[in-house]
Amino acid sequence: MNEDVVKKYIAAGEIAEKVKERAMREVKPGVKILSLVSTLENYVVELGGKPAFPINVSINNEAAHRTAYIDDESVLPEDGIVKVDIGVHIDGCIADTAITIAFSERYSELVDATREALEKALKNIKPGIRASEVGSIVEKVIRSRGFKVIRNLSGHSLAEYTIHAGETIPNYKDSLNFTRLRPRAAYAIEPFASTGRGVVYDEKRVSIYAIRPTSILREISEGHILTSIYGKSRTLPFSERWFPDLIALLGISRFREILRELSKTGYLIPYPVLSDIPGSYVAQFEETVLVLDERSVIVTTNRSIL
Ligand code: MN
Ligand code: MN
Repeated sequence: MNEDVVKKYIAAGEIAEKVKERAMREVKPGVKILSLVSTLENYVVELGGKPAFPINVSINNEAAHRTAYIDDESVLPEDGIVKVDIGVHIDGCIADTAITIAFSERYSELVDATREALEKALKNIKPGIRASEVGSIVEKVIRSRGFKVIRNLSGHSLAEYTIHAGETIPNYKDSLNFTRLRPRAAYAIEPFASTGRGVVYDEKRVSIYAIRPTSILREISEGHILTSIYGKSRTLPFSERWFPDLIALLGISRFREILRELSKTGYLIPYPVLSDIPGSYVAQFEETVLVLDERSVIVTTNRSIL
């Protein structure tokens, strides 16, 4: 990772931070999810970045991977807990960050436990630290406050145009994870705490897809729908909302059918909404860190942490 790339990560992080601040102001009961994600995604562009994935707005027991459909009428609930997950990239250098906003005091403990778990993990980030040690820190904080970590959601290394670049930062002491954080690499640290089972399952709803990287060579040809998608998002996750021209041409039902077909044949990766059991509540906080040689930087706030 050269200096130019480091600068791009930091610039992406500064934009992500501003978008996060805007999200804190915009997230209120009764707000339409569609207008919320549109406002925030437009703001990313206004600030000079590009969305690295559709803004995720996941509510109550939903942990991740929900974004608004193009015709989405749903609104934020009067009482609930909302996760906003934001991805910004500059030339493929990604800042991935998330916050939880609660509409009732009832969720304060859960929210505080998750925030505290992330803060404690970040304080300990340095070159060479084991990913399982980061997970252990997260798990201890969240368990000591009486909640479960979500074991099948984790932080991850980031690479250019790649959100999950191969290494996993678990949210528990995973003795089978031998990853150590490398200098000059970027990682997203993202604890999830839950009042439910601490395990998420795939819902039927899918509002986010990405082109499977290996399909590029096979199917990119003039006029193919994958070519249009690749032109906009490369292999990063996308929303149907980003393709109004294709929807105008094909109709929304046909466009969705094509996305499902391309998923079945392996060209697209579908990302179903991930939820803990109904009636449970999930909180998440996330920051992207750039582990440098001498010091670590929290990219999404540009604060030096060592
Ligand atoms: Mn994220
Ligand atoms: Mn992430």
